Amino acid sequence: MSVLVQKFGGTSVATAEKILAAAKRAVAARQQGHQVVVVVSARGHKTDELIDLAKEITETPPAREMDMLLSTGEQESVALMAMAVQKLGVQAISMTGAQIGIVTDNTFTKARIRSISTERMRRALEGGAIVIAAGFQGIDDDFNITTLGRGGSDTTAVALAAVLKAQVCEIYTDVEGVFTTDPRLVKDAGKIARIAYDDLLELASLGAGVMHSRSIEFAKKYRVPVLVRPAYSPGEGTLIGPEGDAESVVTGAALAKNEARVTLRDIPDRPGVLSQVFTQMAQRKIPIDMVVQDIGADGRASVSFTVPQDELAETLTAAEEAVRQLGSGHVDVGSNLSKVSAVGSGMQTHTGVAAQMFAALSQAGVNIDMITTSDIKISALVDRDQAVLALQAVHQAFDLHRPQQRMYPTVGVVHEVADDESDQARQERERDVVSQLASMEDIVVSEVDLDRSQALITLRNLPDQPGVAAEIFGLNAEEGVMVDLIVKNVSHEGRSNISFTVPKSAAQASLEVARRLVSAHPGAVLNSTSEIAKLSVLGIGLRTHTGVGQRLFQALADAGVNVKIVSTSEVCISTIVDQAQAEQARLAVQRAFGRS
Ligand code: ASP
Ligand code: MG
Repeated sequence: MSVLVQKFGGTSVATAEKILAAAKRAVAARQQGHQVVVVVSARGHKTDELIDLAKEITETPPAREMDMLLSTGEQESVALMAMAVQKLGVQAISMTGAQIGIVTDNTFTKARIRSISTERMRRALEGGAIVIAAGFQGIDDDFNITTLGRGGSDTTAVALAAVLKAQVCEIYTDVEGVFTTDPRLVKDAGKIARIAYDDLLELASLGAGVMHSRSIEFAKKYRVPVLVRPAYSPGEGTLIGPEGDAESVVTGAALAKNEARVTLRDIPDRPGVLSQVFTQMAQRKIPIDMVVQDIGADGRASVSFTVPQDELAETLTAAEEAVRQLGSGHVDVGSNLSKVSAVGSGMQTHTGVAAQMFAALSQAGVNIDMITTSDIKISALVDRDQAVLALQAVHQAFDLHRPQQRMYPTVGVVHEVADDESDQARQERERDVVSQLASMEDIVVSEVDLDRSQALITLRNLPDQPGVAAEIFGLNAEEGVMVDLIVKNVSHEGRSNISFTVPKSAAQASLEVARRLVSAHPGAVLNSTSEIAKLSVLGIGLRTHTGVGQRLFQALADAGVNVKIVSTSEVCISTIVDQAQAEQARLAVQRAFGRS
């Protein structure tokens, strides 16, 4: 029989009435013939209230006692939910994390799951009961109660869905689903019917808050279909799976409103510069984004990157330290900036996406300070007072305001259920799932990839005015050139540089375009080379795990490899290196991540 996991967030179980409504959903699923596991969060603002209460007693509550305290929120919810289901005439049994057999390490307040024993749950399910499981909590080897970190009920739900091989993990919440962008900023933002794990991870880290991102990373690893649905209405919600809507090239647009730019100028041009920067930031756990470096004619380099505005003070201290260690240079800052991004897996196979975004920004009169891209996103740094305008322009340009089609039946989704799976196979799979869950925050790199198929084109000394990027990538799109990585630096003395990679087979066509552009913009200079390679590390949570960039650039620096371009995203960090150094770079990086 198929297993269904339903998770109800705090607002969806805040009152007796809401608990009964949630119970009805569970009962309906049971009556449709599913085995049902319900995961619940603490009611309403319970967790916050308990934290406040503890703080009234002491400024430094001991972590063990915090977990003892916070776990009561979920314990209250499971008992009430079990009562509600039973009142509706269906068997139910509530279980704490310990009773389910969720064993964690002993890192109180942010414990990681070590094992889940499905025995007791299975027995209850086979007996026809709905299992009501407390989210967010577990138990360590010494029987101490532990919790998984704020928002951790999502992770409990996805983990249980993975070990039980549930058909789908339904997340009931107080919104209609995942939106194309923040509806508070763009009125006609639409609900997305179907979104890929990667797109959601990217959107979440670029400024759109939906689910605990650890739970999405985990769903991705185990291919658990997750359906985010409103608890208060029959809305169909958003399905999160390996693939999104086939039709949409761009899935959503995100705005990180409060960003700052930091530039290290006039620093030496030698391997190890990026390593310095990433190390300084990683030591302070500052996630950096939009990294652009530039090599000037005088052999001096500059590196710019963005950070959240509230990390600026700390970042400046770290940047000054990096400059001191490099032996020369100075730091300059741009504040009052915002990052607008378009995200979509479909970009990997469509030409002209960047052109369309830059054209929209240019038509809206928005000047772009910096550009970076990855396989599935394009980010532009803009002035904060134009940020919402820019977001609206991008949203409009990709037709994200159009109502999205729903493309799948309500529950008849995806996870194949292997009914005839042997006990041994099942236990093996369960062990595997759990070992991944435990190591999720350590090992995030799954693959190192080297691509020698591209050429690099750089246009230097371009006038810094709206429309230049739109012109370059518009002309490339007209020629059918598939542009991959794009970076634009922050302008200096009114001029800026744009670099991009194209397939070697399209290099001639793209150079033709570039020559035309150079003659149209006096002073502009064209460089190109096909002697490059793109070296990528793939994994999950790469940008937010600040240590990954540090390890990558340290390894490249130690191997004496010069990095020309950097591109960061949640699922991939790519670098462009000299072709002559490509092999040694690959080996060094593989070694650094234990992938050799
Ligand atoms: N109750 C916990 C929290 O508020 C866990 C959760 O809701 O997911 O963070
Ligand atoms: Mg939550």
